Amino acid sequence: MTARILVVDDIPANVKLLEARLLAEYFDVLTAADGFAALAICDRQPVDLILLDVMMPGMDGFEVCERLKANPRTSHIPVVMVTALDQPSDRVRGLKAGADDFLTKPVNDLQLMSRVKSLVRLKNVSDELRLRAETARTIGLEEALRSDRPDEPGHILLVDARASSQERIGRVLRPVAEMTAMADPQAALFEAAERAFDLIIVNANFEDYDPLRLCSQLRSLERTRYIPILLVVEQGAEEVLVRALDLGVTDYLMRPIEPNELMARSLTQIRRKQCNDRLRASLHQTIELAVTDGLTGLHNRRYLDSHIRLLMERAAQRNRALTVCMTDIDRFKSVNDSHGHDVGDEVLREFARRIRSVVRGADLACRFGGEEFVLVMPDTDGAAASGIAERLRHTIESQPFLIDNGALSLSITASLGLASFLPGDTPEGLMKRADTALYQAKRNGRNQVVAAAA
Ligand code: GH3
Ligand code: MG
Ligand code: MG
Repeated sequence: MTARILVVDDIPANVKLLEARLLAEYFDVLTAADGFAALAICDRQPVDLILLDVMMPGMDGFEVCERLKANPRTSHIPVVMVTALDQPSDRVRGLKAGADDFLTKPVNDLQLMSRVKSLVRLKNVSDELRLRAETARTIGLEEALRSDRPDEPGHILLVDARASSQERIGRVLRPVAEMTAMADPQAALFEAAERAFDLIIVNANFEDYDPLRLCSQLRSLERTRYIPILLVVEQGAEEVLVRALDLGVTDYLMRPIEPNELMARSLTQIRRKQCNDRLRASLHQTIELAVTDGLTGLHNRRYLDSHIRLLMERAAQRNRALTVCMTDIDRFKSVNDSHGHDVGDEVLREFARRIRSVVRGADLACRFGGEEFVLVMPDTDGAAASGIAERLRHTIESQPFLIDNGALSLSITASLGLASFLPGDTPEGLMKRADTALYQAKRNGRNQVVAAAA
C-alpha cells in the first residue's frame, strides 16, 4: 500500500520521529511545521492522510482540521489528531472539528501503523467511488449524488452481551438513531445480513465468544461487507485492536465509554456509510443508463455489441443453437410525417412493449437504433425462431397502436429478418445475414418474416 502522508508538528523532533517510522513502511512523507504550511501543501497537491499535532502556535490543530474539512477540495482527506493530552474533551473537540481519528503521544508504533493503513484503505475506496461519481456527474446524475440531502436517521445494530451496557449505550444513541440491540453474536450476524444497518457496534464483553470472529464474519458476508463496525474494547487491549483493524473493523472505543465520543463516532460512521451508499447507487444507475435505451427501456446497441459476443461464445462451446431476429417498423417515416415525432416516439415505446410480451427471459431484446430492434435468442434454432418472429409480427399487426388513450389509432406493421448461428460466425457476420434477410422481407412487400438461408 502506498500513500502520501503529511505530518504536521511544530516540534522538529516529533516530525522526524513520525517521518522515520512512515518512511520505513515505504509511505511517501511530506512535513509541515505549522497549520498554515499544512493548508498550503494540501491546497497544492494530493495528500492521502494527515497526522496533525493539536498544540501548535498560531493556528492549533483543531482549527487546521476545521479548515480542511470546510474546504471541498480537502474535506475528504482523513485527519488523525496527534495529541499529548489523553482527555475525552480533547477528543470530542477533535471529532467536532471533523477529525477521523486520534493518536496519543508518545505514539504507539503498532497503533500508528494499523490506523494509518486502515484509513488509507478507506480513502482508496472512497476515492474510487468519488471518481466514478465524477463520471456520473458529467452525464447528468447530480441529483443522486447531492450530499446536502438530509441524511436519514441511521439504523444501528448493537451487539452486546449485557443488558446494563445495552441500556447505557442505547440511552446515548437512541435520540439520534434507530437502535436494535442483541446479546447473541450469531443471531446478530443473521440479523445484520437480513436488514439494512448503517452501523454495527460490537461491545467486546462476551463470556466465551471471540468478538473478532463476529467482525471477520461481518466483513466476509456480501450483505454486510460495507457496514462500518465500531468495536468497544477494554482499555489497553492493544493486540485485539491491531488485529481488529487489520480485519477491517472501522473504528473503536475504549472503556469506559465517553458518551460524547460514542455519539460523535457513531454519527461520523453513519454519515460516511450513507454517503458511500449514495455513491454506490449512483454508480449502479450510471451503468444502467449506459446500457439502456432511454426511450424504450430496452437494452441499447452498446450492450448488444458486447453481450452478443458472450452469447455466441457460449453457443459455440455448448454446441447450442442461437438465432438473431432483426426487425424494422414498416413505413415509420410516414408516422412521423403525418402525426409528429412525439407520436412516433409513442409508437416506438408500444412496439418495445410488444416485443417484451413475446420474448422469454433468456432472450436479449435491444433497440438497435431508430425504428430497428434486435432480438438475440439463445438455445433457439431457425424453426423455433420463425415461430417467435411470426408471433411478434402478428402481435404488431393484429392490434392497432392506440395513442393518447385511444384518441389516435394507428395500424403498424413490421418486417423481420432471421439468421441462425453457424460455426465460425462472427457477430458482424451473423448480424449482417439477419440484416440481409430483413432487407429481403422489405423487398418482398413488408409485414413478413424472412429467414436467411443456412
Ligand atoms: P421502411 O419500411 O423501408 O423501413 O420505411 P421507414 O419509413 O420505416 O424507413 P426509413 O429508414 O426511411 O425511416 C425511418 C424513420 O424513423 C426516419 C426517422 O425520422 C425515424 N426515427 C428514427 N429514430 C426515431 C425516434 O427515436 N423517434 C421517432 N419519432 N422517429 C424516429
Ligand atoms: Mg422502417
Ligand atoms: Mg429503418
